Amino acid sequence: MPDLALRPWRIVLPAIAGLCALALLCAFLARVFGAEVALAVAAGVLVALYAVQLYYLGALGSWLGRPALDGIPGGFGVWADVFARLHRWHRDSEIGRRRLIDNEERFRRTISALPDGIILVDVSMQIEWCNPVAERHLGISLKSDYGLRLTNLVRDPQLVAHVTGGDYSRELIFRPMARPSAVLSLDVIPFEPARSIIITRDVTQSERVDAMRRDFVANVSHELRTPLTVIKGFLESFADSDLDLGPVRRNHLQLMMEQADRMHRLIEDLLMLSRLESEAPVQAEDIDVGQLVREVADEARTLSAGRHRIIVDIETPWHVRGSRDELRSAFGNLAINAVRYTPDGGTVRLRWAEAAGRAMFEVADSGIGIAPEHIPRLTERFYRVEKGRSRGTGGTGLGLAIVKHVLLRHDGRLEIESQVGRGSRFIVWLPASHTLPDAGGAMSCSLLNGGG
Ligand code: ADP
Repeated sequence: MPDLALRPWRIVLPAIAGLCALALLCAFLARVFGAEVALAVAAGVLVALYAVQLYYLGALGSWLGRPALDGIPGGFGVWADVFARLHRWHRDSEIGRRRLIDNEERFRRTISALPDGIILVDVSMQIEWCNPVAERHLGISLKSDYGLRLTNLVRDPQLVAHVTGGDYSRELIFRPMARPSAVLSLDVIPFEPARSIIITRDVTQSERVDAMRRDFVANVSHELRTPLTVIKGFLESFADSDLDLGPVRRNHLQLMMEQADRMHRLIEDLLMLSRLESEAPVQAEDIDVGQLVREVADEARTLSAGRHRIIVDIETPWHVRGSRDELRSAFGNLAINAVRYTPDGGTVRLRWAEAAGRAMFEVADSGIGIAPEHIPRLTERFYRVEKGRSRGTGGTGLGLAIVKHVLLRHDGRLEIESQVGRGSRFIVWLPASHTLPDAGGAMSCSLLNGGG
């Protein structure tokens, strides 16, 4: 912004000089023609000056009413200075305005060229702007839908539930009604207290590849199941037979049975994972989690065979809405891991509790612990901290991947804390939307069971 201020001396000095000149002229006229003539001339000059000021004030007033670069009035003296400064100010602000418009236009063109759909919405999901890709993806039009609610225009139930749900930590994958053959991912990014950007991406191709991979793994696992059952059956009948195999062959037979069991568990886990990935959302059963945790504890005790102290704390009667089989499998995997990775004599504690309106299932052990660099990768398929030890304990490397998928389907979250040599805590958080606080009655109980 240029400095437009007019220094006071630029106005006062010329005025004083003019008045002095007028006084001198009047003094001269009074001496030559008399006082009346001098007064008349002075009055005439002052009236003329007043009229000039009024004229320029009027010109300034009408220019301010409709400012235009070419219509700025001219003037003389101080007025010339004032008008020149106004002209400069108006020209600079006009340049700034055009630059702003150019920048905004360029920004919009850049966003329009992106391969993703971008929609700008306000707090009530009213469309403020969107690019052509978003128009194609969701079947909307900026021209006709500007200012309308996105949730009224796009009636996909999944989309409506997601954008009004308020939890934007995960993207939504859905088939839009406008293009049922496509699969879209949708992200909501709040960026001002009252505004959000919605990003849509066409993931049809990658979803297709993913589905092919899932089907392939599921089919292979399924095809392997039958021959493996036959092999296991023959191995068992060999083992049970009275044939004199000798100690070496008996040992080989034993190893073959162990490996066949491992393969069987691997196939079952792979099938479970592909079911979790491809099946429709969980059916909503009312699950008495306290009861479920006791069942899981019994399973852990069977595996431990008295080698560990297994404690069960049921601190809340809360029930959960979800799939019992899936939660049983997830909680079971955590409890079995705790037993497997805790040396004999250690403690495993299973806890079902509530905290800050959410339900939590915690498995804490005094086992070998996990180094911090491994923790973010534990839920990847076949990720193992120590390959040898995991196989030795009968692990498939898929347990925590199953836990992750089950929790995804229940809007839950897994938290892992661990210290090498001191033990681990695996905490499953289930949101309030999946809990039934009243279902189990008002009483809570705490059970303490020794190992074995
Ligand atoms: P696995 O079948 O090999 O146990 P998981 O997916 O269940 O596979 O676990 C992945 C890895 O996480 C394990 O190989 C193990 O190294 C580590 N792990 C899981 N639970 C525990 C635990 N309670 N204590 C220490 N390490 C654990």
